Amino acid sequence: MKRVVFIILDGLGDRPIADLGYKTPLQTAFKPNIDKLASKGIVGLVHPISPGVPPGSDSAHLAYFGYDPTTENPGRGSLEALGYGIKIGYDTIAFRVNFATLSGDVIIDRRAGRIESEYASQLAEEVNQEIKSINGFNFKLINTLDHRGILLVSGSNVSREVTDTDPHTIGVPPLRCKPLEAASSPENAIRTANAVNRYLRRVRGVLCKSEVNKHRMEEGKPPANVILIRGAGVKPSLESFHDRWGFKAACIAGGPLYKGVAAALGMDVINVPGATGRVDSNFSSKFKHATRIIKEYDFVFIHIKATDIASHDRKPLLKVELIEKIDHEMEILSNLSSEDVLIVLTGDHSTSCITGMHTGDPVPILFHGGVRIDEVKSFDEVSAIAGGLGFIRGLNIMPLVLNAADRAEEFGIKTSSKPRMYRMHYDR
Ligand code: ZN
Ligand code: ZN
Repeated sequence: MKRVVFIILDGLGDRPIADLGYKTPLQTAFKPNIDKLASKGIVGLVHPISPGVPPGSDSAHLAYFGYDPTTENPGRGSLEALGYGIKIGYDTIAFRVNFATLSGDVIIDRRAGRIESEYASQLAEEVNQEIKSINGFNFKLINTLDHRGILLVSGSNVSREVTDTDPHTIGVPPLRCKPLEAASSPENAIRTANAVNRYLRRVRGVLCKSEVNKHRMEEGKPPANVILIRGAGVKPSLESFHDRWGFKAACIAGGPLYKGVAAALGMDVINVPGATGRVDSNFSSKFKHATRIIKEYDFVFIHIKATDIASHDRKPLLKVELIEKIDHEMEILSNLSSEDVLIVLTGDHSTSCITGMHTGDPVPILFHGGVRIDEVKSFDEVSAIAGGLGFIRGLNIMPLVLNAADRAEEFGIKTSSKPRMYRMHYDR
């Protein structure tokens, strides 16, 4: 039976780029350690959700961990809140928030010049002082990091079945919050959306009057005069990763969303010095910690956000550089015995350095450690087409992991009252 090191490089896949001689960043990067894992392992391509569908990071991660993203996603807002240690009660929904800049009616900066927490938290406080409840719902705005925040809306029958107001682009007005057409309780969704729209209007009034913004404008900085919300979520109530797959799991990540997903699944979230969830994150410290804690855990999930950030910023050369840096720091994993540890390496989706958006192109994946060895010697989007794993979907990954780690139960065996895909080795 093997332990598992499961590495996700966010937004790893890409498309051919003219400046890179029509190669992808992964094809361009010099990455001897990753290629060695590929050449001594088995490779394939993953459609995180299904072919052609560009995934959000939350949905892709849930699918990879064996949770159906169409029915089991508690919502990005609550996962991110959990990652910041914000507790969500019942009868509460959480939105992810951006402090942004409006000029006239249109958004000109979705991040209000990346306003610092020092000022954004003051703005949130002013909003909370002025607006406490609307139409029977209580509102609380929390600044988390820089321009980011969480909005909690609580009250009986509050509904998560409402739309985002963040249009995810500039040059257009913020959207209105609307009830979903397929809402299970249209009445609750309408009541929630109406209250949220009234709240957001009043928030604009408070932000426009704030001294913080007057100072920013005097200094020539964009004022944070609007908030954009998205990803309404509820308190997660998912079966734990341990119960579903039999692994005692830990997470090493910097980004709050990934810590939140891990926490929602009951993984232990390990805080590692220098793990920032940004391009300056300390990759070395993440891999070192993983090799240290793999003796205490059956499954260590390592997340690196940097590759996705370079892609959103449309910086292919930076993406190449980051892949090379990550590869360099991964050398320490060669100390792990392939008889004891299965290494899985992949991305949660492709992010194009050309468009700066997530795309529905499949992502390469590799398994190393006791698995069949195919002919693929290099780890990239094109070489992986010839790999022995073929094309798989996100939800196929965990059964493949169980099998490769020698933990899979034979189909049809009934050793527990609830059907399980893993061997109940504790009871034997
Ligand atoms: Zn992602
Ligand atoms: Zn992204």
